[in-house]
Amino acid sequence: MTPSAPELGRIVDAIRARHRFVISSHARPDGDSIGSQLAAAYALRYLGKSVTVVNADPAPAPLMQFPGVSEIRIADSVDGEFDAAIIMECGDLARTGVSGLDRSFLINIDHHPGNSGYGTINWFNPAAAACGEMVFDLVRALGVPLEPEIATHVYVAILTDTGSFHYSNITPRTFDICRETLEAGVDPVTVARNVYDSNHMGRLKLFGAVLSAMQIDPSGQIAIVYLDHDMARAAGGTYEDTEGLINLPLTVKEIQAVVFFKQIEGEEYRVSMRSKGDIDIGAVAKEFGGGGHKNAAGCTVRGGIDALQKVFLEKIEAAIELQHGRKQAV
Ligand code: 5GP
Ligand code: MN
Repeated sequence: MTPSAPELGRIVDAIRARHRFVISSHARPDGDSIGSQLAAAYALRYLGKSVTVVNADPAPAPLMQFPGVSEIRIADSVDGEFDAAIIMECGDLARTGVSGLDRSFLINIDHHPGNSGYGTINWFNPAAAACGEMVFDLVRALGVPLEPEIATHVYVAILTDTGSFHYSNITPRTFDICRETLEAGVDPVTVARNVYDSNHMGRLKLFGAVLSAMQIDPSGQIAIVYLDHDMARAAGGTYEDTEGLINLPLTVKEIQAVVFFKQIEGEEYRVSMRSKGDIDIGAVAKEFGGGGHKNAAGCTVRGGIDALQKVFLEKIEAAIELQHGRKQAV
């Protein structure tokens, strides 16, 4: 059942032939980054390899409870000697926010459309529901048993990157892999409680404040949410606490897309977008120099907030129109 991408075989050979590894992922890592990195780290350590996991930013707080997460090094550069760097989940190397990774043999494992192919070996599968699915294949191809830590991280990667099995790209294989992780000892109830139900009160208050200020476009299909530092302070939460917030407007039947503006500083905003079905929000993000998937994407932009909201609304409306057009053409 394991797919036999030629790149996977080359990665297995490259790993077998080397000893010291650095594993990195994108800045502001999510569940798929952390799960993919640590599943690979435990598998490589099982083979007797020396592994350092390095990220630019800490993992989201709820993930700290999972094995190995608190030992991830947080740094903006890697020093010391290593034989290969494995980069997970990054369309380009700059997404890591970590310098020095390109000093050695580079293994690029990713499922984001538009990966730039920056590695010595590039294994890229945009059909994978999570990078964690690819790491599962890697673990199998390395002949490493699905130890509880590895199984847990593969499951966390898939659970979080599919938005708890909400997004596209989920295949029968996704469930085959999850079944194997359960057989290896993963308790999905405990994992879900740890990932989703271990927040602090400030986060809930922050959700309340942001959702109270939410705007809906005249068509009733697009939700616009906004957060700045003052709002976060007043609610007793932080920007890290907004993880998952963007998905809530989509729970309203009529809402087809959400755009979330988070002020970084002055007129610089981090933009996250989500959509349902065939509405290609990834293409919208790309127009603004960002990227992502069809239903989940982001970018960083500058400008006055009113003008930015207007232009994003126009682009998202066009993406919804395009989807309607495609539907009618079928
Ligand atoms: P989020 O909204 O959670 O930050 O990101 C959603 C998805 O879009 C993730 O899969 C993430 O990797 C991708 N993404 C978010 N921001 C950017 C960006 O600035 N550039 C690129 N290439 N992808 C992004
Ligand atoms: Mn991912």
